[in-house]
Amino acid sequence: MRIELTPEQSRFRKTVRDFAATAVAPRAAEIDASDLFPRDLVSAAAARGLLGITVPDAAGGAGRDYVSYALAVEEVAAASATLGAILVVNNSLVAEVVHRFGTDGQKDAWLARLASGRAIGAFALSEAQAGTDAARQETTATAHGEGYLLRGRKVWVANGAAADVAVIFAAAGPAARGRGVSAFLVPLDLPGLTREATDDPLGVRGLGCVDLRLDDVEVPASALLAGSGQGFDVAKWALDGARIAIAAEGLGVGRAAFEVALRHARTRETFGHPIGEYQAIQWQIADIATELDAARMLVLRAAAARDVRERVTLEASMAKLAASEAAQRAADRAMRILASAGYRRGTTAERLLRDARALEIVAGTSEAQRMIIAAQVAAGGP
Ligand SMILES: Cc1cc2nc3c(=O)[nH]c(=O)nc-3n(C[C@H](O)[C@H](O)[C@H](O)COP(=O)(O)OP(=O)(O)OC[C@H]3O[C@@H](n4cnc5c(N)ncnc54)[C@H](O)[C@@H]3O)c2cc1C
Repeated sequence: MRIELTPEQSRFRKTVRDFAATAVAPRAAEIDASDLFPRDLVSAAAARGLLGITVPDAAGGAGRDYVSYALAVEEVAAASATLGAILVVNNSLVAEVVHRFGTDGQKDAWLARLASGRAIGAFALSEAQAGTDAARQETTATAHGEGYLLRGRKVWVANGAAADVAVIFAAAGPAARGRGVSAFLVPLDLPGLTREATDDPLGVRGLGCVDLRLDDVEVPASALLAGSGQGFDVAKWALDGARIAIAAEGLGVGRAAFEVALRHARTRETFGHPIGEYQAIQWQIADIATELDAARMLVLRAAAARDVRERVTLEASMAKLAASEAAQRAADRAMRILASAGYRRGTTAERLLRDARALEIVAGTSEAQRMIIAAQVAAGGP
């Protein structure tokens, strides 16, 4: 396995790092305070090929590998976890899904638009009673004429406030569990679809999370992604990719926390010395750096595997667990090192703490990752 980046991957990372530093970082505090979806920044990211990073050029994407995608998400998330998460949803959970499972008609209608930012995508799996227990879908898809009627309510649909299209999961009936669930690609301007903004989220604010109400939404059979009843195959494949990308986001958030902590350690003096001269502080800095680098190895391994294998469930869950928890610990240690200097609304340290916490929930909680990892290793690995 290669650990070094190729010259092209390094060049791409530098381009994204410059974009993040000049265009994204100056906006992060305002996005957090306003909780408004940053449409203009998403367009700026799209102009740099960040909305369909792994979608082939021929289909309107940037045609890059998964390692490059992970590098890009880390760079953007180091400046704004919110923009990082917006990219993850659009790339892993929608554009890649349309490319992998869509019919020619679905690809023609949506792929180039999603990859260029002319359309924004969302992914609606979770329900009030179906988070970790995602198979407990109460949204139903009942046969109706040549197509289906969708009825139910989805929660925490990220990008939902601005999205033009969503991958929506629905069950054939209440007892269907995972086997009877189908995935549909649904334009969000159809009659019967209503969005209700998620109330005052703690972190990754501006992600445009909504509840999506489906009141007998009529969709044609051509809206199906993969076949009828194949929805969980779609979800699992998509979540493999999203977990790698959320892990990369954890590296970015963790790195931002590391930089905040290091700066404070160098400048804050007590007892006549910068606090960074004290071993108690140095060890925390050392632990943040080591845990992030360890997680980075898992992220790069998972991303490299995604480029060559259809399913990378074990690698993706390990990377997601390690990187999101490393980010959380980095943000917590940064707050400890800043003490009262961080403990105020509006500081970078407090935003990072709230943002890092979200990464341990989205695309499956840490407990869910541990369940997946345990099942995979018990079955003998990938
Ligand atoms: C910011 C944000 C964005 C999101 N974006 C999306 C999105 O775009 N699309 C989407 O579909 N969903 C989205 N979600 C929803 C997310 O996927 C769920 O919140 C997540 O899967 C956890 O589900 P839950 O919140 O219902 O927790 P629950 O499933 O109720 O879990 C509660 C607690 O119990 C633990 N737990 C549950 N079952 C077990 C078990 N068997 N063993 C051990 N522990 C267990 C969990 O780990 C957790 O700690 C988002 C959530 C957030 C916070």
